[in-house]
Amino acid sequence: MQILDGKAVAAARREILKQKIAQLPAKPGLAVVLVGEDKASQVYVGNKVKACHELGIESIEVKLPATVSEAELKKQIQALNENKQVHGMIVQLPLPKSLDSAKAIGWVDPHKDADCLTLENLGRLWAGTPRTIPCTPNGVMAILQHYKMDVSGMNAVVVGRSNIVGKPMAHLLSQANATVTICHSKTKNLREHLKRADLAVIAAGQPEFLGGEDFSKDAVVIDVGIHRLEGRLCGDVRFKELNVRAATPVPGGVGPMTITMLMENTVRLFELSR
Ligand code: NDP
Repeated sequence: MQILDGKAVAAARREILKQKIAQLPAKPGLAVVLVGEDKASQVYVGNKVKACHELGIESIEVKLPATVSEAELKKQIQALNENKQVHGMIVQLPLPKSLDSAKAIGWVDPHKDADCLTLENLGRLWAGTPRTIPCTPNGVMAILQHYKMDVSGMNAVVVGRSNIVGKPMAHLLSQANATVTICHSKTKNLREHLKRADLAVIAAGQPEFLGGEDFSKDAVVIDVGIHRLEGRLCGDVRFKELNVRAATPVPGGVGPMTITMLMENTVRLFELSR
């Protein structure tokens, strides 16, 4: 079985990006708005800041308490919209329950929307004229491209239909000429769909709920899930059981790609801004 090494793909792309950034006439800037004390979000934001430093992107962090008012959050996002040093921006999700994520995303200027979550940018993506591309699904496409896996004509099954992973993933695969089936929690006979898949992208958020018997031996299996289970990291798939054509491990598969694609989106927004 071929192991699709997301860590290596991310490192290769970051090297190219670093060289590209060094040639730019000014430093691109990425702002991260972090509200509250969510531990996973803090780790994720820390990794984003580190990646910015490594690549030569200016990192602007706005940390707000979980008790911040809607009005204050809006003011902070609007200030970043006006800030000429900021080319890309993300509002780290999830927000505390007292705040409305959809509203907060709606305040982000689509020209600075590095996560591709605003309605305008999702519309542009769907219309085939993207400004940016959602980072995790774009990371999956980059892994497939790196390993020269042409998805054209493949039967692709995407498990999960969230706005941030499943839906854009299905769209990108369809754009690349795969025949796509989207499965979700109400899908009947999930395993029958998976058994027919040439390519299976699993983003259900269910720790190790699929295993070796769920895929055909010719399948390419991409595991987007990431969980901490009994002190170790794991995905939605029991990786050790797999005996397929190729698969991504967890950790070291899709995870390292997401931040890399965020950095690429930031540089793209910088270029578009000029
Ligand atoms: P969501 O919880 O928003 O969506 C999960 C989706 O999976 C839903 O569409 C849900 O169906 C479907 N689903 C849940 N259970 C089942 C099941 N038993 N069978 C089939 N479908 C099911 O999660 P996200 O899309 O945000 O994230 C998915 C996973 O990817 C998570 O583990 C997350 O941690 C990980 N992730 C990893 C990233 C990375 O960088 N590696 C980045 C982002 C996410 P329904 O719509 O019917 O509820």
